[in-house]
Amino acid sequence: MKNKQDFPNINERTPEGQKPDGSKYRVLIVDDSMFVTKQISQILTSEGFDVIGTASDGQEGLDMYKEQYPNVDLVTMDITMPKMDGVTALEKIIEFDKDASVIMISALGKQDLVKKSLLIGAKNYIVKPLDRAKVLERILMSIK
Ligand SMILES: [Mg+2]
Repeated sequence: MKNKQDFPNINERTPEGQKPDGSKYRVLIVDDSMFVTKQISQILTSEGFDVIGTASDGQEGLDMYKEQYPNVDLVTMDITMPKMDGVTALEKIIEFDKDASVIMISALGKQDLVKKSLLIGAKNYIVKPLDRAKVLERILMSIK
């Protein structure tokens, strides 16, 4: 019969969303699509990240960032949103905190806006449709 020693690391892996000190990375999700927000949120919470807020347009995202500062480790920022788009919100967040970690969430065919975002200071980007492994990989690259 197999016992626990046969599967040494199965339950001992540190969740990706956990910092070396055991606390959770705090993420703010900015997206006008409830579906995408829920998707990102599920991926992140299942890996032990702490989703500290969700905003549905750039202005709300910027306001939330300022409210929560300095306790935000990462922002996922949709590009196309009403009121204030993601590129403008990124610009304003970087103006407020030059060390902000922002990762852009882009629809297909928005290469110019993605490029612009990277020049402004976005750490990375993810193209929709979102794939769990890719989301986690890009987020971990941006956070550490
Ligand atoms: Mg959108």
